[in-house]
Amino acid sequence: MADGGSARLVLLGPPGSGKGTQAALLSEGLGVPAISTGDMLREAVAEGSELGHRVESVMAAGELVGDELMAELVRERLAKEDAAEGFLLDGYPRTASQVKTLDEILEAGSVSLDHVLFVDAPADVLVERVLARRRADDTEKVIRERLRIYSEKTQPLVESYRSRGLLRDIPGNQTIAEVAASIDAVLSGQTQVGATS
Ligand code: AMP
Repeated sequence: MADGGSARLVLLGPPGSGKGTQAALLSEGLGVPAISTGDMLREAVAEGSELGHRVESVMAAGELVGDELMAELVRERLAKEDAAEGFLLDGYPRTASQVKTLDEILEAGSVSLDHVLFVDAPADVLVERVLARRRADDTEKVIRERLRIYSEKTQPLVESYRSRGLLRDIPGNQTIAEVAASIDAVLSGQTQVGATS
């Protein structure tokens, strides 16, 4: 495991890939905050804040909250002191526009991403896992919509980050401990970075 406090990471992957679980584990190990935009939005909905009211129906339908609103949310969150030395982004960016926004935020702070960890698993495994952990927004119709939106809007980011040399492929169809070990290998430089899969 890398030393605490300086990793700037994005966790990318479809719903059910296990990236949220890994984000929580990594956050503890690296000593940087795990920033899950989905959790932030769910909290806003639970609190009944103005933001919550604005995003509630979009989330319930499994659709994406608008890029501008997300930009505001992420910009504010990354400006907090606990993210100054590093962070793990889970669930952001999800669109090409969000990639651009993140680039701008990082550039403004003269910092850059270290790795984009792409946790993936076969489609049948994803559906099975998402069904097993059902949340309030996880009706079967909504799950299908979330997977469809992932393929359409988010999957293309994989190749975009790969072409920038930032993408690290992490097989998600393993136990939680095995996925964590694959990530540790990347972070400690044991895995050849840039190797194509
Ligand atoms: P998640 O927990 O990451 O699956 O996010 C749950 C829901 O929050 C998504 O289905 C979206 O409605 C919304 N959401 C989370 N992150 C984003 C984002 N980066 N862009 C747009 N919507 C998001």
